[in-house]
Amino acid sequence: MAVARERPRRAVSAAASLSALVALAALAAAGMALSGGAGAAEPRPAAVARCPSPADLAAPPGEKLPQKGNRAFDRPEPERALLAAAPVAPPLRGAIRRVELPKGSRKLIALTLDLCEQTGEIAGYDGAVFDYLRRERVKATLFAGGKWMRSHEARTRQLVTDPLFEIGNHGWAHRNLRLLTGKSISDEILGPQRAYEAIRAGLAAGQCLTPEAERRIAPRIVLFRFPFGACNPASLDAVNDAGLLAIQWDLSTGDPSPTQSATAIANAMVRGAKPGSIVIAHANGRGFNTASALPLAIPRLKAMGFEFVTVSELLAAGRAVVAPTCYDSRPGDTDRYDTLFPLKPRSSAQPALVPR
Ligand SMILES: [Zn+2]
Repeated sequence: MAVARERPRRAVSAAASLSALVALAALAAAGMALSGGAGAAEPRPAAVARCPSPADLAAPPGEKLPQKGNRAFDRPEPERALLAAAPVAPPLRGAIRRVELPKGSRKLIALTLDLCEQTGEIAGYDGAVFDYLRRERVKATLFAGGKWMRSHEARTRQLVTDPLFEIGNHGWAHRNLRLLTGKSISDEILGPQRAYEAIRAGLAAGQCLTPEAERRIAPRIVLFRFPFGACNPASLDAVNDAGLLAIQWDLSTGDPSPTQSATAIANAMVRGAKPGSIVIAHANGRGFNTASALPLAIPRLKAMGFEFVTVSELLAAGRAVVAPTCYDSRPGDTDRYDTLFPLKPRSSAQPALVPR
């Protein structure tokens, strides 16, 4: 395995990204399709969705609890012709940690919530988090596993159509991409793209989208978060080659730890926040105290002048800070997940650490 390229962190213009996205939108509008190399197959007719209704937003507390051992959604996502995607341009290739904002600009910050789901389980939906964000009109970017989207299709339709939220890709089944090769890595990256585009097409086929929503809701996902925050040069290239920006973070709430109290999460957010920060937390039931922490942190951050925007809005407002490798707080620290969560778990008990 080649040693990871060592490059200094750098700040680059988001203009390249934006022009790439414009190009993508143009390609999508032209109806061009990307297949697995077998030519542009006719997309299958979309399954008609039941349209989201405000009456369905309420979430029972039990929905937060992951169902370990439930394999009902372990099947792979069906093949589907994907919308065309140009590879990410060189200045934005790498792991985006935060955004440098122009001097004197608004204090923008992006809250990201991961919706991780592994094989052999159905993860939770933390309704209290979304109830709070909707009540306070707080924007967020949701990095959803493809399998999570399929096991929570009604919730996914609600989140996709809500103007507060932007959907990102968090891998198919939360596999460590450092340990994958070939078709496995492709399926982990493209599975959620297929699920999102199918679900979005279902909303359109069900006439659930107003003309405004049809224009606003992204035709394809353009952001990716590595499961465990772990990558290597090959997987980083694979993500960027698929037209996805790799989004890490510069502010970790520590919320996957059951011992991280709401106060500790809130303090981490308030003390760590900088203009242009990207914050990582969870809304799949494994942010144990996240729903209690957000009402402590967000009013304080707003009082400090911070304004919550999506990651795409943050990128458009400044210059992305790109690192050559993926990490949490220091280079190499997420490599430990190679052994903490091996692809074929040992029969012994799983480690107590909870995946990001
Ligand atoms: Zn995750």
